[in-house]
Amino acid sequence: MRILIVEDEHRLAEALGQILTEQKYMTDMVHDGKEGLDYARSGIYDCIILDVMLPSMDGFEVVTALRRERISTPVLMLTARDALPDKVRGLDLGADDYMTKPFSPEELLARLRVLCRRKGEVVLDELCVGDVRLALASSELFSTVGDKRVHLNYKEAELMRLLLGRPRMILPKEEIIVKVWGYDSDVADNTVEAYVSFLRKKLAFVGSRAQIVSVKKIGYKLEV
Ligand code: CA
Repeated sequence: MRILIVEDEHRLAEALGQILTEQKYMTDMVHDGKEGLDYARSGIYDCIILDVMLPSMDGFEVVTALRRERISTPVLMLTARDALPDKVRGLDLGADDYMTKPFSPEELLARLRVLCRRKGEVVLDELCVGDVRLALASSELFSTVGDKRVHLNYKEAELMRLLLGRPRMILPKEEIIVKVWGYDSDVADNTVEAYVSFLRKKLAFVGSRAQIVSVKKIGYKLEV
């Protein structure tokens, strides 16, 4: 799960980042509206935490622009205490929820869980494609064909989720890098290749017939 934090109060942004990192969310943080919109346009986030009062472009303008561009990432708006018109306006413009400052970490996490879930609509325990199964809570890979199970590390599991989410379709390498390693990462192509090769070995180990096929100069696809 990857969350974008758009908040110009640096201390609050840092605190949010810390709470989310402790809960194993990946976060990107920006401090101004225009930059927030640019990051959000990448479409890689599971949720966006968006302050209302921001330099260069306010939160209302950001959410309006996103929805106009049909980017449906859930947005949680941060509003000042008791600013009821702000809450209503945010929701009217396409925000999914709002939270009034100050808020508790528990409240934030509860709301995020709901929003991240809403995006996928159903909470899945397992991703299933062909004979491949990925248990999401334990990051265990197995196959309906064999009886072995193998644990995937965090990046392997993220990459496997991407492949399982779009079987038989080419997943461009750039997209893999952004979604697994992050927007600002400088991960090289051969790191992606290394992870693909780990996954190939693990698929073979669990007895799956699925193949991760390299598509020259573009990316990878899962053939089942
Ligand atoms: Ca602000």
